[in-house]
Amino acid sequence: MAHATYENVTKRFDTGTESVVAVDDLSIAIEDGEFLVLVGPSGCGKSTTLRLLAGLETVTEGTVTIGDEDVTDEKPKDRDIAMVFQNYALYPHMSVEENMSFGLQMTTELPADEIEDRVTSAAEMLGIPELLDRLPSALSGGQKQRVALGRAIVREPAVFLMDEPLSNLDAKLRTQMRTELQQLQNQLDVATVYVTHDQTEAMTMGDRIAVLNDGKLQQLATPLECYHEPANTFVAGFIGSPSMNFLDLSFHPERGTGTGDTVEYGFTDEQTERIRDAAASTHDTITLGIRPEDITIAGDRGPETIEAHVDVVEPMGKESVLHLSVGSHSMTSLVPGEYDVEAGQSVRLKLPHDRIHVFDEGGDVNVFDEGGDVIFNRARETESLPSGALL
Ligand code: ATP
Repeated sequence: MAHATYENVTKRFDTGTESVVAVDDLSIAIEDGEFLVLVGPSGCGKSTTLRLLAGLETVTEGTVTIGDEDVTDEKPKDRDIAMVFQNYALYPHMSVEENMSFGLQMTTELPADEIEDRVTSAAEMLGIPELLDRLPSALSGGQKQRVALGRAIVREPAVFLMDEPLSNLDAKLRTQMRTELQQLQNQLDVATVYVTHDQTEAMTMGDRIAVLNDGKLQQLATPLECYHEPANTFVAGFIGSPSMNFLDLSFHPERGTGTGDTVEYGFTDEQTERIRDAAASTHDTITLGIRPEDITIAGDRGPETIEAHVDVVEPMGKESVLHLSVGSHSMTSLVPGEYDVEAGQSVRLKLPHDRIHVFDEGGDVNVFDEGGDVIFNRARETESLPSGALL
């Protein structure tokens, strides 16, 4: 059973001079115990989407439910939710224990010993029982965030709502808290909606990811589905780091190729048929996508190879990032760190048939994924670097 839903929800803000559509006809069903991440660039509407479920914004059109209940017109206090914010929002004059128990004392009839039990058990779960008497000013950022989480946990809500809760922490602590938060959510088994602009957080934490852009849902799927089968060029470019490379090519069905200024890429017969079926006729523009980690250095010329100029080499140790030019296009590729390549050289790249993505003109449709049938093979052959790969 879906635990909370957005059904055709639209949110418009009228500023007096203009009307901004922050959320556009959004439908999502959040399952029991699910960790759902709302991700997208700044201004895409993710905070507004979360606030609509919390009741902190009113819905312009559509319905919001929690459990079996239509809560579209309910006030936040009447929704069975608990929210965790980026800025922790702790009361500075209250101890950790008071911060955690205050909400329950104000909004419930629970007896004092039940409240104390809940606070003690949440503090133990979060590893902060020794901090219960401290004031927030005597806590580190990570400890403050644990208290904010504790305050949400003691409410035992139907849904946790989290708005960028880790973004005030330094990189190392953020990574550690990411894991802790995932374990905690698993343990509590409570549906959670988590907002972030960070695709790594989305990939590593979410059971499913809802990718938003301009208030519209672009894709709702597991992290690996978004990575392997992105619905469009927006998702393909947003999920994965470094970002997917794109080449705009003219399609030639009779030759089974896509051509650009210095590129002639040969598709397989099956791929050519797929692209033709997607209504790309002769000379229609298509977008070929390939992830930096899927590009290999080729020895021989072949239908899957293109030639590139190395602009910059960034050694990272285990691997190096190559910044390349292919005609007027810029591309990025990852090669093993021990590979000997220098800026200024030319290289032949292999874009393996089983790793490429093709999108229609406009980038709205992933041609190979149309109908949910993916034709590339995910099992990547391990290839060693051929000698003589440099041109
Ligand atoms: P960020 O990551 O920067 O917080 P976001 O994805 O959470 O961005 P929202 O805060 O949901 O985006 O905003 C979505 C759109 O709605 C933006 O264009 C924003 O300017 C607009 N918006 C949000 N709140 C209001 C408001 N109260 N009045 C008018 N416009 C608003």
